[in-house]
Amino acid sequence: MSCIVAIVGRPNVGKSTLFNRLIKRREAIVDAVSGVTRDRHYGKTDWNGREFSIIDTGGYVVGSDDVFEQEIDKQVELAIDEADAIVFVVDAEAGVTGLDEDVANLLRKVEKPIFLAVNKVDTAKREADALEFYSLGLGEYYTISSINGSGTGDLLDAVVAALPEKEEEEISELPRFAVVGRPNAGKSSFINALIGEDRYIVTDIAGTTRDSNDTKYNRFGFEFNLIDTAGIRRKAKVKEDLEFYSVMRSVRAIEHADVCLLVLDATRGFEGQDTNIFWLAQRNRKGVVILVNKWDLVEKDTNSAKEFEKQIQREIAPFTDVPIIFMSALTKQRIYKAIETAVEVYKNRSKRVPTSKLNEFMLPVIENYPPPAVKGKYIKIKFCTQLPTPVPQFAFFANLPQYVKDPYKRFIENKLREEFDFTGVPIDVYFRKK
Ligand code: GDP
Ligand code: GDP
Repeated sequence: MSCIVAIVGRPNVGKSTLFNRLIKRREAIVDAVSGVTRDRHYGKTDWNGREFSIIDTGGYVVGSDDVFEQEIDKQVELAIDEADAIVFVVDAEAGVTGLDEDVANLLRKVEKPIFLAVNKVDTAKREADALEFYSLGLGEYYTISSINGSGTGDLLDAVVAALPEKEEEEISELPRFAVVGRPNAGKSSFINALIGEDRYIVTDIAGTTRDSNDTKYNRFGFEFNLIDTAGIRRKAKVKEDLEFYSVMRSVRAIEHADVCLLVLDATRGFEGQDTNIFWLAQRNRKGVVILVNKWDLVEKDTNSAKEFEKQIQREIAPFTDVPIIFMSALTKQRIYKAIETAVEVYKNRSKRVPTSKLNEFMLPVIENYPPPAVKGKYIKIKFCTQLPTPVPQFAFFANLPQYVKDPYKRFIENKLREEFDFTGVPIDVYFRKK
């Protein structure tokens, strides 16, 4: 599980430009591999060998053009709660504004590492303009240009050096399930339905980080750790309708989990924010089960479930091999099925296909449907193997791996899924030089 760095600041100072710069190199690699569209406000990066997540908090504030002071307060408050370090961006061109001072006032009380980044210092001449930001009372600052990248290396050196060492995760044999989803989807109701008259709670294991909570359950014959979405009760006071809050809360829980149970509200369909959370899980290579909750409220005819499934699959494409369970936390319909399915996905995620079995199946498939020749050159795939990674990854060895295109990779992935069952689990297929 990686640390979280939050970027805060008033609108137009250059937060999203900085965010994009920080994740760019890495994103390019990931996108080429997975073909997945990325969230514009959350990403992973690494610097000096240290991997961490970055959140552009401004990106989640609605109506950021004339954002209210109050909204910025909330943004900062949440960043303070959830992040391990905070980068506060201000604008050298505009100078110190009242909103900057408000943010600084909030941040001064915080004991986490805070980095003041004076942005838009594109030229050495601008350096002097930055001096006025001492008045914010946050001490030293970093002058950066998010547009040309200058100064961002020094900033990152300092940020990474200040990140807390994360303890290794508890070594637990038990599957870790995170219940995630939009506010009001029914997450708490689902958890209560699971544990309601529960006499099976064995222990409360203090989480490895301050606000994640693993609770061990023995339920329906399965043992598992349930990860509460971080801080959900603590922050009930915060207005719940901003996408940002649930995404921030979900990040930690998802990174901590093996399988994410994404709870939807059946009366609202699959919305943008659901896509975001789904993407977070997928991107972190976690298993996913989609729970369409409040199914008791839906007027059903014979096709309702099918149509709902189709809608979800459109939204989550291309990774559509995900179980979808229609349930009701209220009537407890299929809550057992939900857990049972999560356990199956957990098993799929740690599945190992023996090399002999894999080749026995895949080589004839490839022979019948080889990759198309490129510039008259034939691509020959000789051998494949599952890599010894914690999540399923497969390497195919070929004479000309660079010529294998995405459609063929998807074909291979689909065949692997058909034969070996990786339902609910993102898998990676790599082509390498023989
Ligand atoms: P946000 O609202 O804080 O996310 O700000 P944006 O990243 O959208 O940037 C606001 C404006 O400032 C855009 O027009 C950017 O092109 C510009 N901008 C961002 N960083 C820099 C920089 O380092 N130098 C200059 N000159 N402009 C920048
Ligand atoms: P959370 O914010 O995701 O934890 O959502 P809650 O568990 O607090 O549920 C939000 C609202 O939806 C509450 O009023 C619940 O009673 C209601 N609710 C949750 N699950 C169901 C369900 O399966 N059926 C119906 N009819 N209502 C539900």
